[in-house]
Amino acid sequence: MPRTLITGGAGFLGSHLVERFLAEGHEVIAMDNLITGSLVNIDHIRSDKFRFIKQDVTEFIYITGPIDYVLHFASPASPIDYLRMPIQTLKVGALGTHKTLGLAREKGARFLLASTSEVYGDPQVHPQPESYWGHVNPIGPRGVYDEAKRYAEAMTMAYQRFHKMETRIVRIFNTYGPRMRLSDGRVVPTFVDQALRGEPLSVYGDGSQTRSFTFVDDLVDGIWRLLMSDEKEPVNIGSQDEMTIMEFAELIRELTGSQVPIIHHELPVDDPKTRRPDITKARERLGWKPRTPLREGLRRTIEYFKSHGGHTARENNDE
Ligand code: UDP
Repeated sequence: MPRTLITGGAGFLGSHLVERFLAEGHEVIAMDNLITGSLVNIDHIRSDKFRFIKQDVTEFIYITGPIDYVLHFASPASPIDYLRMPIQTLKVGALGTHKTLGLAREKGARFLLASTSEVYGDPQVHPQPESYWGHVNPIGPRGVYDEAKRYAEAMTMAYQRFHKMETRIVRIFNTYGPRMRLSDGRVVPTFVDQALRGEPLSVYGDGSQTRSFTFVDDLVDGIWRLLMSDEKEPVNIGSQDEMTIMEFAELIRELTGSQVPIIHHELPVDDPKTRRPDITKARERLGWKPRTPLREGLRRTIEYFKSHGGHTARENNDE
């Protein structure tokens, strides 16, 4: 039975990966320091093939026994989280990637890095193919995340080339779904929370900036395919449903049946103006494409927040 370590395993994406890998017959170890993840996300998992270790992955990682796969998903991932924890964000991308690569090398494991569309910064090429080098402000507030992930990619490629390791890099575009933290500040949980509470939706700037939203199950499937493939260079995984944030606000009003007003706030510094992945590579090399229509994914997400996301997500995750 393959044995897999998932860092950030108590987070939004990490917990969905834990479920998928258990379902695929892996033994799974989730590691998390719980600064943005929560045990609530993995509480329901009843399997003797699953173990949780509370650890900060920027410290030396010691695990007994074999490990076949290491997936490095630990990191604050929402702009307000990484602005609140800039040093931890830099450390988990840099030192955490080094430690998890070191562990994978020691165990002879295949390594997969969770990278991000943020490596493209505020892109000047649209849509963004993997060959685009990006347009990132290294010293701006988002630089702590963007540069940490760019460094993590460089470190991963160095281990692949220098130590001849098997590594994979997924560049994740805006992903949403059950288990996002309601208070994490990202646009999906924020708008849904505001609409359900009857509060105005907070659109940053004029709302003309675009994003393409991917449902979490589709992302997890792309990650699984990439890990099992021979693709050694970064691969974008993300939806083609690009829309402006104003259009997105309208959609959330419609799907929640809420007539709340829209209030404009200042646009955050360096907020990317457009974002949509070129997914030719994922289609051709992994046979992957997004399957969940946005409305359906959002309905499932709204249901989750209505039924038990609410204060559970709020109370268990906030420091
Ligand atoms: N945004 C917004 N209102 C909010 C939260 C976010 O208008 O309450 C905007 C934000 O400025 C950005 C987009 O929604 O243009 C997506 O933001 P998010 O934080 O979800 O992710 P990002 O893609 O910026 O990392």
